[in-house]
Amino acid sequence: MSTFKQEPHKLLVIPGPIEVTDEVLYANAHPSMSHVSADFIPVFGDCIRMLRELLFTQDAQPFIIAGSGTLGWDQVAANLVEPGENALVLNSGYFGDSFSDCLRTYGAKVDEIVAPFGDAVALSDLEAALKQKKYKVVTFTHVDTSTGVLSDAKGIAAAVKKVSPDTLVVADCVCSVASEEIRFDEWGLDIVLTASQKGLGTPPGLSVLVASQKAVKVFETRATPVTSYYGSWKKWLPIMKAYESGSAAYFATPPVNLIYAFNASLRQITKQSPSVEERFRLHRETSARIKKAAEELGLKQLPVKPSVAANGMTACYFPEGLTAADLIPSLVKKDVVVAAGLHKDYKLKYFRIGHMGISAIDSSRGDVDKVIAALKESLAEAKAGKNA
Ligand SMILES: *Cc1c(COP(=O)(O)O)cnc(C)c1O
Repeated sequence: MSTFKQEPHKLLVIPGPIEVTDEVLYANAHPSMSHVSADFIPVFGDCIRMLRELLFTQDAQPFIIAGSGTLGWDQVAANLVEPGENALVLNSGYFGDSFSDCLRTYGAKVDEIVAPFGDAVALSDLEAALKQKKYKVVTFTHVDTSTGVLSDAKGIAAAVKKVSPDTLVVADCVCSVASEEIRFDEWGLDIVLTASQKGLGTPPGLSVLVASQKAVKVFETRATPVTSYYGSWKKWLPIMKAYESGSAAYFATPPVNLIYAFNASLRQITKQSPSVEERFRLHRETSARIKKAAEELGLKQLPVKPSVAANGMTACYFPEGLTAADLIPSLVKKDVVVAAGLHKDYKLKYFRIGHMGISAIDSSRGDVDKVIAALKESLAEAKAGKNA
C-alpha cells in the first residue's frame, strides 16, 4: 500500500460520484500502460471475475466499457431489443423517463407504468401489464436517484418469471450496486447495469453491465443487426472473453488507468473487510441513522414508506418556508456537498444526501457525523435568518 493521501477537500455526499479511498485514487495514478500488455490483462480479467462475485452470479457476462451509466441503457436498447419490439418500463422517477427515451431512440415500442411520486410500481400493476402484452424486456430502476425510491428487485424478477418467463428482466442498478443487496442468479435477473462512480467507489468513466447467459443468447439469436457501433456486444463480447481468459484483444482502447482504479476498489469490496454482506448491513445502518436524524430535524422524506426507501441515499423535502438557496450553499460553507432535487415536477422542493461506499461503511472517517452536524447547524441558521 502506498503512503499517498488525497488533498483535503469538501466532503462529497451526493448520490454519485462519491468519496473514494486513497488506494483507489493512487491506483488511478498508475504509470501509463499498454492496454494489451501482459501486466494489464489480469487487472482487467480480475475486474470481470470480481464483478461476478459482487453480484452473486456464477456465469453471467460482465461488460466493462469506457462510458458512463447511461451507456448501459444504450447497450440494452441496441443489443437486446429489436426495432418495433415491446419494452415495459417501470418508472419510479427521472431515470425511468430517461431509460424510456433511450429505448425509443433505438426503435423500441415502450409502455410505461409510472409510480406515484415517492413510490415504486406495484407488483400487481406489473403482472396485469404482462398479461396484456408480450414484452421483450421489463426494465426498472433499482434505486431511482431522483427520488431515493427503492424498488423490489427480487419481487419484480419473480413476477416476470411467473407471468412472462421469456421476458428479460433489466435492472438499472447505477445507484444500487454495492450499496443494496443484489443476488443476480438467485433472483433471476438478466441485466444489471451500473457505473463506476456510485457505490462502486471509483472515479466516473466506466459503464459496467452484467448480462445473464439467457440475455446473451437473446442477443446472439436476434434477427436484425445491432443498432449501435460503439455499444455493440458483437464488438465487446470477444474483448471481454479475451481479457478474462488471459489474452488481449482490441476494439476500442479501454481506459487503462480507470481499470486499475476499478480493480483496486473491487478488491476492497470483495476481498477485504467488511464482506459484501456486511457492506449491505452497514449501508442499512448508516441509512437508518441519517434518516432518523433527518426526521428529528423535522425533515420529511420523499419515499412514502420505509420499505421503498433506498439505503445508499436519502431524499428529504425542505422544511416549510425554506428553499435550496437557504440550505445547500450553507452546507457547502461547512464543507459538505449535497445534491439538489432532480425530479422534473418537484426538484425545487427537496434535496438529496448520498451515503454510499466509504462514507457509509467506515465510521472512523466521521462522514455521517459531519453531515448530520452540518445539517443541524445550517437548518438552525436558515430558520433564524427567516425569523430575523
Ligand atoms: C446516475 C444514474 C444513471 C446515469 O448514470 P451516468 O453515469 O450519469 O450516465 C442512471 N440511472 C441511475 C439510477 C442513476 O443513479
